[in-house]
Amino acid sequence: MIPAYEVYAIKYAHHARRAGENFIGGDPHDGPMPLDYFVWLVRGNGRAVLVDTGFSSAVAAKRGRDHLRCPTAGLRLLGTDPAEVNDVVVTHLHYDHVGNFDLFPAATLHLQDLEMRYATGRYMCHDCFRGAFEVEDVVGMVRRVYEGRVQFHDGDAELMPGISLHLIGGHTMGLQVVRVATRRGAVVLASDASHFYANMEQARPFPIVWSVADMVDGYRRLRELAESPSHVIPGHDPLVMTRYPVPAPGLEGIAVRLD
Ligand SMILES: [Zn+2]
Repeated sequence: MIPAYEVYAIKYAHHARRAGENFIGGDPHDGPMPLDYFVWLVRGNGRAVLVDTGFSSAVAAKRGRDHLRCPTAGLRLLGTDPAEVNDVVVTHLHYDHVGNFDLFPAATLHLQDLEMRYATGRYMCHDCFRGAFEVEDVVGMVRRVYEGRVQFHDGDAELMPGISLHLIGGHTMGLQVVRVATRRGAVVLASDASHFYANMEQARPFPIVWSVADMVDGYRRLRELAESPSHVIPGHDPLVMTRYPVPAPGLEGIAVRLD
């Protein structure tokens, strides 16, 4: 019997930008196409799993993003104490996915082998690959390794019954996505395997990329993993906040329920 988990998208930041910044080759219309920033909470069967940890207000100020609230505030509003999070899945080590991990003191961090290799290896000599990494996040993750707090995965892995990790790559060398069993079937948290619905639906890759080939292959893989194409949750699309219901009164604009 596989458990059915609750899944929530928690919005914590926003960035106003234009469509041309979201596709390789730009966009012929180039109107406004803002990004939302999320972490995702998966809970049930006595476990609380957080997918990514977001960035801090200090990093938001440094990078010119609108920080709405600490991701832990959204978590608390959903009734989950950050100290009770058992596992944190780090989809990849970009600044908007891995800051704040010190706010989850009890959690084991789950990371792909290839992501650590990417973030600490020769490709970081180049601005075009390292731009979305914060060196202190990467160093902090190395420290966590030495504390025995990181569990590495080499490709696809089962995290626990009904929750699995899948190596996609593309955006970064070791990007992983999360597949969750829910009451409406398998939901796939794509993170930056597809920033927007438009990236995967139109096969128009996002311009921050390690391998364009892996990124485009990843769009097909996401559909294969999910119950239906509409069960794939893109990593940064504001449409997620309108397509899914608010889980409880007072959480408008803060969280939606994906299961
Ligand atoms: Zn991102």
